[in-house]
Amino acid sequence: MGSERHQLHIFFFPFMAPGHTIPMIDLAKLFATRGCKSTLITTPHDEPTFLKSIAKTKDSGFNINAVTMTLPLKEVGLPEDSGNLSKITTMEMHKPFMRAVRMLDRQFELLIEKLAPDCLISDFFFPWTTEIAAKFGIPRLLFHGTSAFSMAGIDCVRLYEPHKKVSCDSEPFVIPNFPGEITLTRMQLQDFVREENEFTKFYNEVKESEKRSYGVIMNSFYELEPAYADHYRTFLGRPSWFIGPLSLCNKETEDKAHRGDQASIDQHECLKWLDSKQPNSVIYICFGSMTNFNAAQLHEVAVGLEASGQQFIWVVKDPNVGEGKEEWLPDGYESRIRNKGLIIRGWAPQVLILDHEATGGFVTHCGWNSILEAVTAGVPMVMWPVTAEQFYNEKLVTQVLKIGIDIGVKRWVASFGDTVKSKKVEEAVKRILVGEEAEEMRRRARALAEMARGAVEEGGSSWSDLGALIQELKSHRLAHTEKI
Ligand code: UDP
Repeated sequence: MGSERHQLHIFFFPFMAPGHTIPMIDLAKLFATRGCKSTLITTPHDEPTFLKSIAKTKDSGFNINAVTMTLPLKEVGLPEDSGNLSKITTMEMHKPFMRAVRMLDRQFELLIEKLAPDCLISDFFFPWTTEIAAKFGIPRLLFHGTSAFSMAGIDCVRLYEPHKKVSCDSEPFVIPNFPGEITLTRMQLQDFVREENEFTKFYNEVKESEKRSYGVIMNSFYELEPAYADHYRTFLGRPSWFIGPLSLCNKETEDKAHRGDQASIDQHECLKWLDSKQPNSVIYICFGSMTNFNAAQLHEVAVGLEASGQQFIWVVKDPNVGEGKEEWLPDGYESRIRNKGLIIRGWAPQVLILDHEATGGFVTHCGWNSILEAVTAGVPMVMWPVTAEQFYNEKLVTQVLKIGIDIGVKRWVASFGDTVKSKKVEEAVKRILVGEEAEEMRRRARALAEMARGAVEEGGSSWSDLGALIQELKSHRLAHTEKI
């Protein structure tokens, strides 16, 4: 594992939201197992989750640690327990939360000064870290946590503005100078792209900082999206390293079960339930860590699932939505679906569920981590995009990889999503689980899953890209030390 003095020391600084911290923790573990010293930066709120997630890697003798900075929540008028975006439940809380995050710069600078890392890998939400890294003469790499397809697609839409050349919100346009004739509508773009708002200015800062950064780390693998990886690197000129799928660094059941929050179901109980089912006979439904469907939408999902007649595991993040009486649940529902359906209220051990042979399909909100976890497990998907870059991800899965179907969402709606009726849920669930089309998609998904595993094995594309990056960063350090 090498002496500490010669180890490349990397700071990993994730944004405080599960979809950002989970892959960044995996990233830090991966670098540590390849001989680097990994220091994760977190806050007291998330520290216990971080420590639990890295415990095994640390106990195995790898050099990985977590250090904390304090989010000034009180100063911005937020409650002490709101130190993670998943706890920010109203639009009014959002702005002060982002203000508190921005106020971390001084503490961050002091940490760099004290611990003197050789390199920084920070979330795209922290554009200001580029300048701080430059001040200390260390490279900053960016982690967006999405696909090259989405990164390049978003850049091409920003560059060529095809959405300004259509006559209405629902008229499709082709993304210009982008491989594959990919179509979108204005309604599917992020609100801050459609029309300038406060976030537009921030996003422009993010994009500027991306250009000034050393490069971009991709939680993806080259074979998954070669045309888009090349496009991003060559046409758009972004140095990038494809080193995923990061979730594959979790090999044992325990590692997979302990990603993110504490699961709301005992992992053994969950696996026992799945063990009792036939291969590919269960649909898994989960909308990530941030989507907040209202009670009416949850009701539509419940009715659609029951009408499909299929077996399911359904994760309901906030069962007390609305009046707090589970009003979304039809009368007598759970006794009717007993043996057929399992509702997990809260946090699910997602990777364990996706990896189980009984899981034959996944209804997803199209968050990139979820999609990549499904690809890695060889599970076809029903695409239900809600917000962020999720409509781009949907196109990659349905139009390029052809391992999913769309449920028919037309409109980007922050956090709450566009309404989907029960009939659509019923039809999509049947279509993804049963029949020749489903089998065809499953075959393609399995082939990609094999490629994913090959990519992270010794000599595979992701394994080699990571090795090349580590070498480059070591050379950079040497050159910098010599200059001093
Ligand atoms: N996740 C999980 N259990 C849950 C919900 C989410 O383990 O009940 C994990 C999921 O495996 C993924 C991450 O949380 O790694 C969600 O990231 P994604 O990019 O899919 O969506 P986001 O939550 O950022 O919208």
